[in-house]
Amino acid sequence: MNASSFTPLADDMAAVVVTELAPLLDRRDLMWQDAALCAEVGGDMFYPEKGEPSAPAKRVCRACVVRAECLDDALEHEERFGGWGGYSERERRRLRRERTTGLPWPARRAA
Ligand code: SF4
Repeated sequence: MNASSFTPLADDMAAVVVTELAPLLDRRDLMWQDAALCAEVGGDMFYPEKGEPSAPAKRVCRACVVRAECLDDALEHEERFGGWGGYSERERRRLRRERTTGLPWPARRAA
């Protein structure tokens, strides 16, 4: 197609396209979950009670092929509970602060 053969969609047709594509685009954003290793081992260890170790979940996350996507999703949606992408709730809060300020946490505290 070249620019001269482009015909804009009518508004009603554009609305149909958007309506039909939106669920697919949402699904694309979550496709990484199909490869989530935690789905195979069970989720309880990813939500440790206070005082329980997070190391077992972190070991699973280190072997997970979608760790980066998982962490990005958790940071983007400000997941407050559980281990995501190998990071605890506290570690993700620190990462969010670092991303917001552009400074590593200790430097931000000193600034
Ligand atoms: S990184 Fe960890 S929490 Fe995230 S999908 Fe993989 S196993 Fe699950």
